[in-house]
Order: sequence, then structure tokens, then C-alpha cells
Amino acid sequence: MLVVQKYGGTSVGSLERIENVAKRVAKARDEGKDLVIVVSAMSGETNKLIEYAHHFSKTPSKREMDMLLSSGERVTAALLAIALNEMGYKTIALTGRQAGIKTDNAHTYARIESINTQRLRNEINDGNIVIVAGFQGINNDGEVTTLGRGGSDLSAVALAGALNADACEIYSDVDGIYTTDPRIEPKAKKLDFISYDEMLELSSLGAKVLQNRSVELAKKMGVKIIAKSSFSDGDGTVIADKGENMEEVLVSGVALDKNQARVSLRDVKDRPGIAAEIFNKLADENINIDMIIQNASENGTTNLGFTVPQSELERAKKVMDSFKEEFGSSDYDENVAKVSIVGVGMKSHSGVAAKAFEALAKNNINIEMISTSEIKVSMIIDEKFGELAVRVLHEAFGLGE
Ligand code: ADP
Ligand code: ASP
Ligand code: MG
Repeated sequence: MLVVQKYGGTSVGSLERIENVAKRVAKARDEGKDLVIVVSAMSGETNKLIEYAHHFSKTPSKREMDMLLSSGERVTAALLAIALNEMGYKTIALTGRQAGIKTDNAHTYARIESINTQRLRNEINDGNIVIVAGFQGINNDGEVTTLGRGGSDLSAVALAGALNADACEIYSDVDGIYTTDPRIEPKAKKLDFISYDEMLELSSLGAKVLQNRSVELAKKMGVKIIAKSSFSDGDGTVIADKGENMEEVLVSGVALDKNQARVSLRDVKDRPGIAAEIFNKLADENINIDMIIQNASENGTTNLGFTVPQSELERAKKVMDSFKEEFGSSDYDENVAKVSIVGVGMKSHSGVAAKAFEALAKNNINIEMISTSEIKVSMIIDEKFGELAVRVLHEAFGLGE
């Protein structure tokens, strides 16, 4: 039986915790499992490295950021291997490159293109526990790349898929997926099961318990994920295809994303092609746009608003500067948050959005932007009301225990 286990930043956040992980890995090994272990950097490490870079530059080169950030995962992979070796277990630590992970060229947000599993299989056949530094790969030019924040989840899922593993277990500091972040709403309820589609929406909308790309890939490759805690034992939450007879819950979860910034352009010259030009330029810069609003035009001008991840606001401002002639004034707001409700049952029920708006209104929370899809409703609000909005919506849809 081949199992891929991934341990996140908190689980390897100190030497004692690495020791704890080593013991868990050893136990699985004693049960006779072949193991590929993916590790994150120690918690806070990646952020610290980003801060170091920002000491020198607001817009550091993405190639050098990958050189920098990939180091954190190497540290934990090597330390875990050293700990396991000392305990008498044959173990080897590998970088993403050594593990055969090939990506595209999008530095700091690379996509995995393929995995050459030869080395991994050789090491497993030699009786090694294989530890892989998560969050990284190598592109066609031999450059180190990283897979976006939270990307060790993606490494784990991709490896589980490529190796056709029997299980992909993702360990963090929570014992599964909850109806909302239990740190925000202590009444949140643990789910035994959640479908790929709902999990994908939740994680795309800010529930950082699993990286959204990892869920997307898991769905594509049919990798069943089990989310568990590295601090306790329990069955965790299974993330997989929805079974035939599963009941379609109306709303299964609430997510909060505080990493949002709003860009507003006023008096934009309303001519055909202007939106295409602006958004093409943003896309060329790999800036992710989320919500977009454009007002009906008046006297040949219109107002255009959209949201970007906070980390991309500086670059978005630069792009807007290159369009200065096209609009009257611009305004940027980092203090916004996106709160979302997700549920497959929305497909067949009306009134869900109205109920969400009403719940926020009752608490005097103003909604600045709205976007909906078949299975979600997202609202941009003032960041300071983010947690309150989560609790209000959680209550309104009866998600608590
Ligand atoms: P790791 O560092 O192991 O990758 P993360 O910090 O990325 O772990 O993810 C775990 C955290 O995700 C939890 O501590 C919890 O606060 C948060 N979280 C957000 N939304 C949810 C949710 N719906 N269910 C469970 N945890 C959630
Ligand atoms: N260390 C990286 C991050 O903090 C990747 C990960 O933890 O999954 O984003
Ligand atoms: Mg994570």
C-alpha cells in the first residue's frame, strides 16, 4: 500500500513538531506502508522570506523569489529525513526537482506539467521513506519554480496521482473540513465528506485549509483526499466525487478571503475595446482578477471596478498608470474582504442570495460588490466586518451544531 502524506507548516512548525511528525511517519511505516511524505516550510517561514525580499524591493524578480521561497521546504524535508534516519528508518529527502516535478514557466505560481516518477519509484523500491520538499518544481529551462501559496497541497495531490497512490492524506492543525473556519466561528461543524466542487469553491473563496489548485487537480485525476490533523487521531474529512445518493445540501460552507483589494476607475472613456485592453494587460502581467463591475455609461464615460489579490495591488496600480489617459480618477482600497456561501443545492433553489443579503443587512454590513455562480454567492464588504459576516451567514443558514 502506497500512501502520500502531506504535513503543513503548523505540523512542522518547530523541532518538537517535526519530531512528532517523524513518529507518525514511523508508525505508518511500521504498519507496512510505502510512504511519500510531502512537507511545507515551518509555519511563518515563507512569510518571513517574503518580508526579507520586500526589505530590498517592492517588486522583486519572481525568479529570485522562487530561489528564495523554495528554500523553506528544503529545510523541513532534510530535517525530517535526519530525524527519521536517527530513529533507524531508511529515509531520503528530495527537492521538487529531484522528485521529478516539471512545471511551466510561471514563476511563483507555476503549474505542474508532468512528473517523472522514476527516481521516486527507485527510492521506494530501495526501501526508503521518501520525503519531498513541497511547493516546488523545475521548469524546462532548469529554473526552480514554486506553485503558489499553500502549494505543498498541490505537490501532494500531484504525486499521489502520478504514483497512483492508495491514499492522499493532508495533515494540518484542524481535524478536517468544517462548515467555516473554526477559528472564526467556534460553532462550525466538521464535515465527514465534501464534494470536489464544493471544496474547490470554498478554497478558491478563501478557505485556505486546502489550496484550490490541489482540489482542482484532485478532481481531474480522481485523487481522493483525506484531510486530517497531525495533532490527533480521527477519520478526518473525505474530499471526493459526490456519491449518487448524496443529499444536496443547500449551503455547505462559508468562506472568508481578506486578501482582497479593490480597484475603482471613474470616468472611464466608454469606447469599444477599452475593457479588453485593460484586462488583457492585467492578464499579461499574470494578475488575477476576481470580481468586475461596470456601471451603465453616462455621457460617454463609465465607472469600472474590480478586485485583485492584495499582493498584486502594486502591480495592478502600475498597469493602471499605463492607462492614465483613459480614465478620470482611480481609487484603491486594500481594506475589503470577500465573504462567500457555497453549496451545490443552490443550483435548484431560489432565494439563497436574497437570504444572504438580508442577513448582512440586518447587521448593517454594506455590500460593495456581488458575484454569483451556480453554487456560490460572493460579496465584497468592508474588511473590518469580515468575521462578523461569516458568523452571521453561518447562523442564517443553520450550519452550526
Ligand atoms: P497548513 O499550514 O497545514 O497547510 P493551513 O493553515 O493552510 O494548514 O490550513 C489549516 C487552517 O485552515 C486551519 O487552522 C483553519 O483555521 C483554516 N480553515 C479555513 N477554513 C476552514 C474550513 N472550512 N475548515 C477547516 N479549516 C479551515
Ligand atoms: N510554504 C508555502 C506557503 O506558505 C507552501 C505551503 O505551505 O504549502 O505558502
Ligand atoms: Mg495550507
